[in-house]
Formats: sequence, C-alpha cells, structure tokens
Amino acid sequence: MFEPVLLKNIDVLDGHLLSTYESGGGYQALAKALRESTPDEVVELVKQSNLRGRGGAGFPTGMKWSFVPKRAGKPKYLCCNADEGEPGTFKDRIIMERDPHQLIEGMAISGYAIGAETAYVYIRGEYVAAIRRLEQAIAEAHAKGYLGKRILGSDFNFIVHIHCGAGAYICGEETAMLDSLEGKRAQPRLKPPFPAVEGLYASPTVINNVETLVCVPHIVARGPHWFRGIGPDKSPGPKLYCLSGQVRKPGLYELPMGIPLRELVEEHAGGPLPGRRIKAVIPGGVSAPVIPERGLDVGMDFDSLAAVGSMLGSAGVIVVDDLTCMVKVTTRIIEFFHHESCGKCTPCREGLNWAVKVLRRIEAGEGAPGDLEQLEMLCKGIFGNTFCALGDGAAMGLRAALKHFRDEFVAHIEERSCPFH
Ligand code: SF4
Repeated sequence: MFEPVLLKNIDVLDGHLLSTYESGGGYQALAKALRESTPDEVVELVKQSNLRGRGGAGFPTGMKWSFVPKRAGKPKYLCCNADEGEPGTFKDRIIMERDPHQLIEGMAISGYAIGAETAYVYIRGEYVAAIRRLEQAIAEAHAKGYLGKRILGSDFNFIVHIHCGAGAYICGEETAMLDSLEGKRAQPRLKPPFPAVEGLYASPTVINNVETLVCVPHIVARGPHWFRGIGPDKSPGPKLYCLSGQVRKPGLYELPMGIPLRELVEEHAGGPLPGRRIKAVIPGGVSAPVIPERGLDVGMDFDSLAAVGSMLGSAGVIVVDDLTCMVKVTTRIIEFFHHESCGKCTPCREGLNWAVKVLRRIEAGEGAPGDLEQLEMLCKGIFGNTFCALGDGAAMGLRAALKHFRDEFVAHIEERSCPFH
C-alpha cells in the first residue's frame, strides 16, 4: 500500500495553517538544508534523486538548477509556475489551497540551492481560493522567520511574491510567463538564451512547477535514495494524477510514478460508469495524444508514454467512454488550442483556424471526401514548424484521434450526421 507524501496534509483539518504544517514536521527540511548543506550540496541531492519536472516536459530538475551561473553579477530569480491551464489538470490548485506551506518550504529550499533571494508564484487568476491561502501562508511564514532576512539564523534571505495571471493558457509556457511577469504581452521567447542564463529581467532564472517544488522538502528530509526507490529509475518519485471524465471516482490521486494506466483508471478511479465501457484515455492533459482502450497497459511515466506515442504531460487523465463522440472531443480540443494560440507564428495561428473549420463541418455532418486528408496535411504543416510546443501538442492530438478513431470521422462524413446523437 503506497503511503501518500505530497498529499498527506490534504484532508487534515486546517492543513493550510502554519501550526498544522509545523506539527507534521513542516519546515524541518528547510532547517536541515540550511544547517547541514551548502547550496551546491542541495543541488547535488536533487540531481541524485533524479527528480524530473512535473509541469510536463520532464526535464531533470537538478540539472536545470546547475545551469544557473555561479557568478552572474546579477540577481537570480526562482519562478513557480502555478498557471495550471492544461484542461483536466487540478493538482497544483489543491496543493496551494490545502497545503500552501509545503510549496513555500519547497521554494525556500530551491531558492537557497540556486542562490535566489526573490521568488514569484505565477498563479492563475481564477484560482482565487489558492491565492488567498498562499497570501496567508506567506504572511505566516514571514512572521515565523521561514521567509525574510537571515532565515532561521542563517545568511540566507528569501522573499516570495504572488503574481496573478489573467487567463491565458500560453502563460504556462515558461518564457511567455516571464514576459507576462515583466508586464509585456505573453508570447514565447526565442531560445537560447535559456532562462537559467537570461530569464526574468535578463537575469538567471529557474522556473519550476508547483508539484516539482513540493517534492524538494521530502528529498532533503528523506534522502535521494528514498525518492529514487519509488517507480522507474529513470522517472522516479511519488506522482499526482488528476482523474476526470467518465469514471466512477474522479479526483486527485498520489501514487508511484509508472503505475499502469489501466490500474489507475479501472482500480483507483473505479472504472467506467455503470453500463458503459472505456473507449479512450487522454493521459496527460489535452496536449497528450489520446490512447485507445487497448493501449491502457502502459506505465504512467515520461519514457513509457513517449514510447507509445503519447506523453505524461501534466498527468491530467481524462477518461472517455463508449457513448462519447471522438469527433466532438477532438473538435473541442482543437477549438481550445486555436482560441489559446498566441498568434506569434503562422502555422499555429492559421493552421489551427483552418483545422477548426474542417472539424466543425465534419461534426455537423457537412464533411466532404478529402477532409481527413486535409486535416492530415494541416498536422504536417503545423508539427515541428511552430515557435513553441502549443502547435506541436495540437497537431499530435489531432493526428492521434485521426489514427485511432478514423472510423468515427468516416462515419460522420458518409452518414452526413453524428452517429452518437
Ligand atoms: Fe504562439 Fe502557437 Fe506559435 Fe506557440 S506555436 S508561439 S502559441 S502561435
């Protein structure tokens, strides 16, 4: 039986208060890091743990931290990506609402490791409850000496600011987020230079997701070997999975990285609704290509999902049952990407607009022979030709739907109506 670590305070009464967090051992990892380790040693611990970023890309966190130049001659910044705009994803919100001190402790240790004295939490503006809880937690942590000057008697100074986003999905892309923090229109930046060298205000910046940062205190407290002992060696650790869609027990689950997708959906989430069958699962938010039911025996980790042509992404697991039209699902997803395209590059801006028009007419029973080939041509034009991963994610999702559920697209065109109505 797996013991939750990241979610252990989630159902505790007043789990968001400092006193509750401290009574469960909270901030002892920060004290330990400041007392026993140099910043470089903390970076080394995180490298040894093989923690990979939980925001979607899966980049090794310790390696990302080690790219920050030691003597930059400029301030260094830590940015927490709490924009969480990926449909089907709600793990970061629940942590911030119910256990905000876990995030603040993770940020303080991470700031110490990279040499940052200032941090920002870039949070979705819609997350009003989480914003209030974080504000309260930051004030409590300041008052108790976990934030501010000379933290716990050390030479380390660290403050955390909250910055509320205004509802643009693209702000989850790390360089667009930096532009937004600087008060500019959020659009992805050309890389290199990478943020670790030239990020916020052209200074070295590390950007980590909420779930990534809350893993850090546990790695410091329990050691990297404990972390590495959970799940596959190349993608280890406890993992948060957001289950939604047509399952009996949707919700947030903490389980080992690499758990089979079938076990997650059929056992932990209770399987399909009465009388229904699972048709497909989107394993990592709508950027992740859909997997048909026959493919559910795959591990929920970065490498296993990549090997079957999908991705772990944000681990927003969306279950689709046999009464749901895949043309409708695909149209809604591509409409979302089209709406959220920042417009910077032509293949994404124009290609998605065109794809939405074709998908809408197929869904309405007005599709024509050649429409599916046209959609495939659009995917080819978008994939690999866009400035950021939004365009690629949309093209990969559309391609996977056309590959696995082509019969449904063909039925819409031939029958001139939706067979699911
Ligand atoms: Fe903007 Fe789309 Fe280009 Fe990304 S791929 S930069 S979202 S237009």
